[in-house]
Amino acid sequence: MSLTDDHFQRKLAAQSRAWDQTSEAPKKERAPREPAAPKMGICDKCKQEKLLRSFRSKETTVSNGAASYGTVVKHLCEDCAPKSRRERDAEVPQMDKKQVKGLLRAARKGLL
Ligand SMILES: [Zn+2]
Repeated sequence: MSLTDDHFQRKLAAQSRAWDQTSEAPKKERAPREPAAPKMGICDKCKQEKLLRSFRSKETTVSNGAASYGTVVKHLCEDCAPKSRRERDAEVPQMDKKQVKGLLRAARKGLL
């Protein structure tokens, strides 16, 4: 019947419209984050002149009795950098978490 055909056509059209929208969206949302380039400077922690990387951290600062939340950028040398982040950067520069999990699982199965 023509009624069914029409319904089907509209459904198809709606699906292809939705596909067009979703196929364009991910690229914008997943823009590659530029890795912070190390540069010489005074480390915020050890006060020595070293190659620094910037780390953003949320902090609560209290001034004049009023607390305020803010994003603080710290410049830390490799020695003072948060360890977890340093290790992650060093070990998995190109892979996302899913890939790493898969690799770990495969390695465990193969080795144990
Ligand atoms: Zn340092």
